[in-house]
Amino acid sequence: MKTITFVLVAGMTFMGCTQSSEKKESQASQELASMIHRFVPVVLEADTSGLSAGDRQVLHILREAARVMDTLYLLQAWNGNLAALNALEGDATPEGRQRLHYFQINMGPWSRLDGGRPFIPGVPPKPAGASFYPEDMTKEEFTSWVQKLPEAAQRNATGFFTVIRRTERGELTAVPYNREYRDLLTRAATLLRSAAEVATQPTLKTFLLTRADAFLSNDYYESDVAWMDLDSPIEPTIGPYEVYLDELFNYKAAFEAFITIRNDEETARLARFSNELQEIERNLPIADRYKNPKLGAMAPIRVVDQVALGGEARAGVQTAAFNLPNDEKVVAEKGSKRVMLRNVQRAKFEKILKPIAGLTIDPRQQPLIAFEPFFTHILAHELMHGLGPHVITVNGRSTTVRKAMKDLGSALEEAKADVAGLFALQYLIDKGVVPRTMEQQMYVTFLASAFRSLRFGIHEAHGRGMALQLNYFLNAKAFLYNEAAGTFSVDVPHARDAARTLTGEIMTIQATGDYEKARAMLNNLATIEPAVQRTLDKLASFPVDIVPVLEATEPH
Ligand code: ZN
Repeated sequence: MKTITFVLVAGMTFMGCTQSSEKKESQASQELASMIHRFVPVVLEADTSGLSAGDRQVLHILREAARVMDTLYLLQAWNGNLAALNALEGDATPEGRQRLHYFQINMGPWSRLDGGRPFIPGVPPKPAGASFYPEDMTKEEFTSWVQKLPEAAQRNATGFFTVIRRTERGELTAVPYNREYRDLLTRAATLLRSAAEVATQPTLKTFLLTRADAFLSNDYYESDVAWMDLDSPIEPTIGPYEVYLDELFNYKAAFEAFITIRNDEETARLARFSNELQEIERNLPIADRYKNPKLGAMAPIRVVDQVALGGEARAGVQTAAFNLPNDEKVVAEKGSKRVMLRNVQRAKFEKILKPIAGLTIDPRQQPLIAFEPFFTHILAHELMHGLGPHVITVNGRSTTVRKAMKDLGSALEEAKADVAGLFALQYLIDKGVVPRTMEQQMYVTFLASAFRSLRFGIHEAHGRGMALQLNYFLNAKAFLYNEAAGTFSVDVPHARDAARTLTGEIMTIQATGDYEKARAMLNNLATIEPAVQRTLDKLASFPVDIVPVLEATEPH
């Protein structure tokens, strides 16, 4: 029935069109449909039954505040966004509906998965500086202006929370967010304050009140500290955070919101793992002199379920974990916090990873694909970043792995966290802390997950690190390719060995700061072999990510 209505409406719209423009329209519609189909809609579930009546009300108000972040973000991304959105909302044609839907997925008129290509006629290319800077400003103009400013004004101009505008005389000037976005930020502050009134948990109250103040004063320091101190069933992250939208300089923070609730069960499991870290460090497959006899305090990790999101958090590929704040002063004094969105990870597992596994994994091993080992390995990955060499001695001088590994550092560090995650979980399985049933599941799920990561290419650290591991495991006969079937499988005993030896090799390169060895390893192994490429080609038409449908989880 739905299809028939669609055809009728489409037919009516095109009445009077010439045949060729009709064809062009339906081509555009098909193209939009296939772009949209890369994102699978999924209802994100979160258990709100443990929340008090007051906290439920807090959630309700924070959902509204998240919508204010939507508008703020659209304004920041492009000054034509609100008009474009308005026009789309008034367009009842099938293409109009599709464009609106895709606009909401991308939070703007540019398709993020297609290099930022506009999908709405008449829209200009994406401005590199978003609307943080005057459209006609060049990088050079900004840089030479900043150089002439006194130091405090320089910090302000290049700071997170100002936009750059022109004065009446055409000169550049920095305008703080609380002035530029006064009305919307006042509305957001009012909502946060009314949420604070019904909130019962003191740290939540403090965060909401200090963040409301920050929206009005433009000083975010105290509220960032309060965010680090949050110890509440509701974990809201709301405000200006990441600087990716500012492709010109990466200075300006875009507004977003992740409204989440704490997952107590997983948080407790994480605490159990954390108690094992020093013992795992002692048993790392590297020379004793490279081991850390006393691990420092780990950055806190929160496992949460997402219930609402706003602004940049909505746009394109969904964030499954984040690390904040970005303000170096807060990080130096209070450290940073890692937030893992468990229900987002689950949705990606169900809607993206499982279909990929269905095509790439030997059917006999497919029943081993499971969410539990998938998520546990992600947790282990995060914890393993803290283990192994960090501060090292090269030629008698003290330095860090990051400095010694230079441009290769991230790819190697990501590969380390992955493979050491396997090593650590294997250690805990052998010790009886993690159930033995997870052993096979973990390696097979990791193999399927490798293809998910590699789809995003090997130009970026995670993909490059994953290619390295996949080839190492293939060479070690830990992963096996069945040429006739075009599928992959795991040899568990070999996989155990490969996890141990690769962990040792990478960590030893890091411990010795051996840049040349790192380069040789990545050159040899961080490649896409023909069998893997054929598999990736087969996955081309598979969905890439999810679109969270959060409204359905709203309690009534
Ligand atoms: Zn990582």
